[in-house]
Amino acid sequence: MKQILFALSVLFFFNSCGKDDDTTSPDTASIAALACASGSFSAAATNGTAYTATATIAYSGGNSKTYTAGAAVNSTGVAGLTATLQAGTLSSSTGNLSFTISGTPTSAGTASFAISFGGQSCTLSLTVNAAGGMPVPAVYNKIYGATSITYDGTWVTIKCNALPDHKSAYYPTTHALYEAYSGTTFSGVTFNKNPNSISTQNITLKIPANPAVNATHAATPMGVIGVALNGVPFFNQYAAGGSALSGEIVSFDQWWAHPQMTGMYHYHVEPLYLTTVKATKSSLMGFLLDGFPVYGPKETDNSDPAGLDAYHGHTHATVEYPSGIYHYHFSTAAPYLNGNGFYGTAGTVTQ
Ligand SMILES: [Zn+2]
Ligand SMILES: [Zn+2]
Repeated sequence: MKQILFALSVLFFFNSCGKDDDTTSPDTASIAALACASGSFSAAATNGTAYTATATIAYSGGNSKTYTAGAAVNSTGVAGLTATLQAGTLSSSTGNLSFTISGTPTSAGTASFAISFGGQSCTLSLTVNAAGGMPVPAVYNKIYGATSITYDGTWVTIKCNALPDHKSAYYPTTHALYEAYSGTTFSGVTFNKNPNSISTQNITLKIPANPAVNATHAATPMGVIGVALNGVPFFNQYAAGGSALSGEIVSFDQWWAHPQMTGMYHYHVEPLYLTTVKATKSSLMGFLLDGFPVYGPKETDNSDPAGLDAYHGHTHATVEYPSGIYHYHFSTAAPYLNGNGFYGTAGTVTQ
């Protein structure tokens, strides 16, 4: 009897082994989409300087499986860097993959990494700055979603692609950060999607590192007037043609923003993802083109900003500027971000 049981169990053992070998690895991690274009890096890279950073790439459609560290992927374009997947466990829906980027870039330009994971692939791009530039003032490194930030001693040049690092009903449905939305949006109105879809932009903002008041207070232009920490541009309080924004608010998505007809996603009002997920209601949100910083709708003691002027700002010490600075605040009522023009002299933007 014992011998028969033993023989049977051996049979089952070999059977199950054979089964595992034949099937297409049911334990393998798989995902539905990977968003390289909205990937971010924890540090800026410079030609000829040793570099170590973490790259974060969002995915959707995870299957809850654990995965091991990957093999190093060599950069192309700009050579000398590798991207190595860190081990982790997929969520059952959306999440982030982390890669260790290291090496020494051999030129300035774009380092590209062919990323392949869980049945999806895409190209991750890192801007490598030319050597010899001045170190970027620390406060600008808070703009984590820029594709590059450089400084020449007078101007801070910020490049961004305007792809939000959060979900949106305006991403194409196949995108890892697409999420359908219905319900209410900013000011309690019911969301009504506009016909546009988010697409990659190529925006360059040149802003003064030492902002100064300008008595002319030039009106803000239509289009980009500043940039948020996640690389999404700020727009002013008007809809196309200079009419009030009220008719457009219904098309703000779950994070209170929308793309215009060329697919440029932008914030007219409080960037809800930054004030509730990435930072707080009183945190630095970004900068306008005149170099003055923008803060959330509260002060650090959770009070409402007091005595905002015609340009929607005021002066006092902030976390980033302990000796005091003029700064703008978001508000729930018009003009939401900026009032009758720039407080200072605006830099330039190409978009
Ligand atoms: Zn708009
Ligand atoms: Zn304030």
